[in-house]
Amino acid sequence: MIIGLLNQKGGVGKTTLAVNLAAELAGTGARVLLLDADPQGSSLDWAAAREGEPLFSVVGLPRATIHKEIGALGRDYDHIIIDGPPRVTDLARSAIMASDMVLIPVQPSPYDVWAAAEVVKLIEEAGVYKDNLKAAFVVNRKIANTAIGRDVGEALAGYPLPTLEASITQRVIFAEAAARGQAVRELDPRGPAAKEVAAVATELLEQN
Ligand code: ADP
Ligand code: MG
Repeated sequence: MIIGLLNQKGGVGKTTLAVNLAAELAGTGARVLLLDADPQGSSLDWAAAREGEPLFSVVGLPRATIHKEIGALGRDYDHIIIDGPPRVTDLARSAIMASDMVLIPVQPSPYDVWAAAEVVKLIEEAGVYKDNLKAAFVVNRKIANTAIGRDVGEALAGYPLPTLEASITQRVIFAEAAARGQAVRELDPRGPAAKEVAAVATELLEQN
């Protein structure tokens, strides 16, 4: 499955979810490639911060030719995760065209809900060329026991795309793991963050 993490807005959790979903899928024994399509190269930085064995391959491809190259690049992998770029529209378009499933992280904030309009438009445009393209929102950085988490779900219902049942809570462990080039499932395998990532992965694979 080719999963593209896309959102024109920066700081929503594209890279965080990309590395953790890649680690989760690799943990099941699948061969996983993480394609870093962000010119900033955050997934590559994550891989460089890591000591010891890589869990999966990370390759930088911040070019608008991802959809053309993905066939050859992904030949030897079961799953490919694309860490999408902020802003750059032609890159985002190419990453969407390359994906089977576009996952849009959004934080529980009205600003994120409004900003999602841009990526939804790109997905609708891509859908004209690609009829089996799937897309969904995933709520990231949910704050436990607040109404805003539920409100964001209602606000997102105004878009013609579904929101995943599974969501990711705001947790310091995501930054702590990233600082070492690790996934949350490595730092705390049975912890709540790892469980949430696993639930997102399961839900994504069910949609395939
Ligand atoms: P993007 O790739 O969309 O720009 P990042 O994945 O880099 O977003 O996340 C932006 C910042 O938010 C990073 O510092 C990251 O560690 C932090 N972050 C992302 N998701 C979470 C979360 N669920 N809990 C805590 N911090 C998070
Ligand atoms: Mg990023």
